[in-house]
Amino acid sequence: KKIIIAIDGFSSTGKSTIAKELAKKLEYAYVDTGAMYRAVTYYAMENGFVGLEFLKEDKLIENLKNIKLNFRYNEKLKFSEIYLNGKNVEREIRTMEVSSLVSKISAISAVRKMLVKQQQEMGKERGIVMDGRDIGTVVFPDAELKLFMTASAEKRANRRYKELLDKGNDVSFEEVLKNVQERDYIDSTRKDSPLKKAKDAVEFDNSNMGLKEQFERVLSIAER
Ligand code: C5P
Repeated sequence: KKIIIAIDGFSSTGKSTIAKELAKKLEYAYVDTGAMYRAVTYYAMENGFVGLEFLKEDKLIENLKNIKLNFRYNEKLKFSEIYLNGKNVEREIRTMEVSSLVSKISAISAVRKMLVKQQQEMGKERGIVMDGRDIGTVVFPDAELKLFMTASAEKRANRRYKELLDKGNDVSFEEVLKNVQERDYIDSTRKDSPLKKAKDAVEFDNSNMGLKEQFERVLSIAER
């Protein structure tokens, strides 16, 4: 029987790596919901609705109907890439600028309402691995398997820092750590769907666990 696997947790806890591996192994679809919040943030930035010092919430809400998101599978990369109004924005949504604004955008109820609806639609066929912040609590409270990933802020910042450097970004570790901590704070204190562990989620601290070990542990839980 095909199930829904919900993976939640703080940023850069390795959710997406585990989610992708699980999806590949089980031949399930993988959906990165963070990419959806990032794409809306990128849209808001491009249209002058958000910046470090301002947020034109009403303007963004008025324009939500003009945002069309979809995922298309990239055969070469073996990965579904996100498209914003027909344009592949995978690269654009992973910048520090988007990272520092995304929590502001994801705190807006109308944005969450729109994206949660789309996510629930994608899960209708089941056989899906979805990662995010509220998948086990809000999007699929009845998911058969829920994981909640944690790791220390330093470990997580270090991961994200290396990724950003690899992609040619010019950032400092301190800047990345500050961003991770700020997002943790905003994501877990916002009024609408704050990040928290679902009661029936399995908690997974991977601060000191290698990828292979993590994956084996998760798979053994998934196959139970
Ligand atoms: O997973 P990722 O770090 O790319 O997510 C970026 C941001 O999107 C998070 O910091 C959070 O503010 C928001 N998000 C959310 N709910 C989700 C997924 C992401 O609020 N389900």
